[in-house]
Amino acid sequence: MTIFAELGLGEPLLLRLEQLAYATPTPVQVQAIPAVLAGRDVMAAAQTGTGKTAAFALPLLQRLSSEMAGAGGAGGAVNANCVRVLVLVPTRELAEQVHHSFRDYGENLSLSTYAAYGGVSINPQMMKLRKGVDVLVATPGRLLDLHRQNALKFSQVQTLVLDEADRMLDLGFAHELNAVFAALPKRRQTLLFSATFSDEIRALAGKRLDNPLRIDASPRNSTVKQIRQWVIPVDKKRKTELFCHLLKVNRWGQVLVFVKTRKGVEQLVQTLHGKKISADSIHGDKPQASRLQALESFKAGEAKILVATDVAARGLDIDDLPLVVNFDLPIVAEDYIHRIGRTGRAGAEGEAISLVCADEVDMLAAIEALTRQTLVREEEPDFVPEHRVPMTNGAGLVIKKPKKPKVPKSSRNAARGVPGNWVGFAAPAVKTGRPPRKKPTARRTPG
Ligand code: AMP
Repeated sequence: MTIFAELGLGEPLLLRLEQLAYATPTPVQVQAIPAVLAGRDVMAAAQTGTGKTAAFALPLLQRLSSEMAGAGGAGGAVNANCVRVLVLVPTRELAEQVHHSFRDYGENLSLSTYAAYGGVSINPQMMKLRKGVDVLVATPGRLLDLHRQNALKFSQVQTLVLDEADRMLDLGFAHELNAVFAALPKRRQTLLFSATFSDEIRALAGKRLDNPLRIDASPRNSTVKQIRQWVIPVDKKRKTELFCHLLKVNRWGQVLVFVKTRKGVEQLVQTLHGKKISADSIHGDKPQASRLQALESFKAGEAKILVATDVAARGLDIDDLPLVVNFDLPIVAEDYIHRIGRTGRAGAEGEAISLVCADEVDMLAAIEALTRQTLVREEEPDFVPEHRVPMTNGAGLVIKKPKKPKVPKSSRNAARGVPGNWVGFAAPAVKTGRPPRKKPTARRTPG
């Protein structure tokens, strides 16, 4: 078994890992840490919750601090408005979280770190960058804004990390990423991390990475094994009722619930509040401060239920979350993997339940094809849907019920009690067309 000390990390980081009770490196860390330390480009596919943040943060912190020490404290210093390691992430929440990890792991080092993202005032960020920072974690749009306003220079960037790279493309950041690549120094290290790798991502890596070490720490697009997943078929209009019922009978502790739309999120939260159940929400319409506050109060165990749109699906690290509920299935199948990855983290067990209505069967089929499994269905007594959810076969196909064979006319007559093939027997006339109009009734004049 490999231990952290064998991977080339120095004493201050090893001490910190001991304090954090990280006993052994995870598979992605075993492969990535020595490669990043050696300055190689890396393209890593790792399941959510496998420790990929530490896989890039630890060796980058190590390199930054050795450069500082090696040059007598001067050579590795960052210049005004400059940054040495740039980490790009798709969402504000992930920016905060990754930044928090850098700070946490680097507690015994004297390196500066910062997170910059949109939705908050740019001025404090510009002020903070004046002195330069060793590690900047940023979302692509705000990063480019800061660069355009000369608050940020890329000349000292030695490593670029793309975290959740596929998500960045899903969110339409391709243009911003190209602009960042165009502005960065040509000589640099590039690390690309993602839970899932689409063909688009592979193409991006082929264009932007230099002979990368490819790490596949998990079978492609598979879901974490410790997560027990199943589906409860239900009619669309009864989802809220079913959710409240399950919450009560199963006495669920903390639950992260994913709902398709912002409106849907707020409706569910209101229903729960009406039942005196503590619930909070995260979605794109909420200001950044209240999104972070909702997350913090959920993490602290103050809110029992956190209802979110897919904005919260990626990267959020919530300790020991036992249950994720897909109130609605995600439109993009990959999001299913990210959503349920919020539970069963770092080897813990978890459950993921999806409430699926007939309309969602194509999404269910796509998820099953992507994760190469047929999800178990468990009907909830009293909630068996009127609109049955068609069967799926785990290969992306919806199995439609075979149509009833057409009954020949003669046997139809037989069923109506009309003997077939009887010459001279007239079948009863079937009335067709609109019913005769009733005679208009006389209007009563107001008395
Ligand atoms: P990540 O996949 O980076 O979001 O990490 C998931 C969780 O695993 C985080 O809570 C980390 O603190 C934790 N973690 C990362 N590496 C290790 C390790 N080697 N041993 C124990 N926990 C770890």
